Amino acid sequence: MILILAPDISNDSGEYQSLITYLKTLKNIEARPHIVKGKEQTLTEIYLVGDTSQLKADDFKDLPCVSNIVKISKPYKIIGKHADDKRPTEFTYNGITFSQDNINIFAGLCAVSTREHVESMMKALKENGQQCTRMGAYKPRTSPYSFQGHGKNCLPYVFELAGKYDIKVIAMEITHEDHIDEINEALELTGNPTGVMLQIGTRNTQNFELLKSAGKQTRFPVLLKRGFGITLEESLMAAEYLASEGNSNIIFALRGMKTNMGDPHRNFVDFAHIPVVKRLTRMPVCIDPSHSVGTLDRGADGITDVMHVTAQGVISGANMILIDFHPEPTKALVDAMQANTIDQLPVLIEDVNIAREAYLKRLQIKGIKP
Ligand code: PEP
Ligand code: MN
Repeated sequence: MILILAPDISNDSGEYQSLITYLKTLKNIEARPHIVKGKEQTLTEIYLVGDTSQLKADDFKDLPCVSNIVKISKPYKIIGKHADDKRPTEFTYNGITFSQDNINIFAGLCAVSTREHVESMMKALKENGQQCTRMGAYKPRTSPYSFQGHGKNCLPYVFELAGKYDIKVIAMEITHEDHIDEINEALELTGNPTGVMLQIGTRNTQNFELLKSAGKQTRFPVLLKRGFGITLEESLMAAEYLASEGNSNIIFALRGMKTNMGDPHRNFVDFAHIPVVKRLTRMPVCIDPSHSVGTLDRGADGITDVMHVTAQGVISGANMILIDFHPEPTKALVDAMQANTIDQLPVLIEDVNIAREAYLKRLQIKGIKP
């Protein structure tokens, strides 16, 4: 059971203290507060865990500062969407809202190659009205002999250029908890010109210590990729690790599953799970068409498979698109085969707009408000 308290309740207030004192008298029940800092208000949610089968919502509704009660129906308590759950399905970070009801495009470099490439990419994003991007500094590679990313050395120029071109959020994969400190330090050094969304890749979906580190900090939101060889439920529980440590500003990314059933694509595209994740949880859902498809092959109609699956995801209600671009794909240091060229950026944006409009129309014919 979750007790949602009235907004902006202080932990020091008499009301809050008397609520906590009462909850401590419940046998075999632990009360775990979870603070959600929103743009306008701070909400305290108290999760009652343990032997909760005997608890009745009625026994809690008149307690001091309790404004709402949610009965937990899913194992992922914090990120889950339970019956009559009116908790938010969105958050705002550095001026950009991430929601189950909107869409943001993160086009950018799979791996930072050179300062010039970063600048060309960001300039193109600004010219096309975009304020988000992806930039890989730490790359998890199958071979230890492959390029591992420029690491912290590229962060200062990546952040400075982001400031120059008005980029508000950069999705950046981390593979070790130290990378969070390195990102923090580089942002401080450059005067915080931009924001970072920490990306946890598919190889680390169940790296529980990394999840705990990314969950303990609340400065940066987290983009968690679905594990490519585990069940959806297991990946959702990984997201709950982040939330249970205190950070529930999470976006869940679908990026294809590892099986040769999807050949000739790099992974088996799993975007049919967009509505499923939005039904089961409060997280906005991202799609990564580049790592799902892995090539720039075109269909008989001339449209690339990457653009086709992007549109398929958007028409099903995807909230974010993470997609590889490179100003000079032949010089890309990672995943060159799947990097879209800059001239494809306005094409992508228009295609996404068409599919998004179609999604909103689909909601209308069903009488659902967007
Ligand atoms: C990436 O986005 O660069 C990446 C490595 O993705 P994934 O973890 O999905 O393979
Ligand atoms: Mn990649």
